[in-house]
Amino acid sequence: MKRPILLHPDPRLKKVADPVSDLTDDLRTLADDMLATMYDAPGIGLAAPQVGVLSRLIVLDCVKEEGAAPRPLAMFNPEVVAVSDEISVYEEGCLSIPEFYADVERPAEVTVRWIDPDGAEQQETFAGLWATCVQHEIDHLNGKLFIDYLKPLRRQLITRKMVKLKKERAREKA
Ligand SMILES: [Zn+2]
Repeated sequence: MKRPILLHPDPRLKKVADPVSDLTDDLRTLADDMLATMYDAPGIGLAAPQVGVLSRLIVLDCVKEEGAAPRPLAMFNPEVVAVSDEISVYEEGCLSIPEFYADVERPAEVTVRWIDPDGAEQQETFAGLWATCVQHEIDHLNGKLFIDYLKPLRRQLITRKMVKLKKERAREKA
């Protein structure tokens, strides 16, 4: 089931999410809902705070090649355990900040440890778009948005435009 995605600015997007201590069916359903919401958007990653749930859960699928099999990943309590010295720059976007994109520098490779929906611990090293995406989503769990990496003036400009966009969307719904 799809869930509504919160739009910036929203205080829930600035909060630190709580660790998941108990993998309940509700949380597994949330992961499935988040994947459905992400694919529908369409997007390549989504964090639980973006659907208003302050739990440490992210989903992603950065398979881009036409016709390639999808690789949906749901990560509970994801943690970056190592990063490369090499940096890469990607033009990032965010489902909570639609229509705005900006270059962000991040480590080119990251090793992430997480708990999968079956409760098993997983660890993998990601590169390329996967590395950018997983870092972007983990940032969401710490109340950090990609625009927080930009210069204050640019961030304020985007935030002002988002306030306007949210008002327009609210009017369309009314
Ligand atoms: Zn995002």
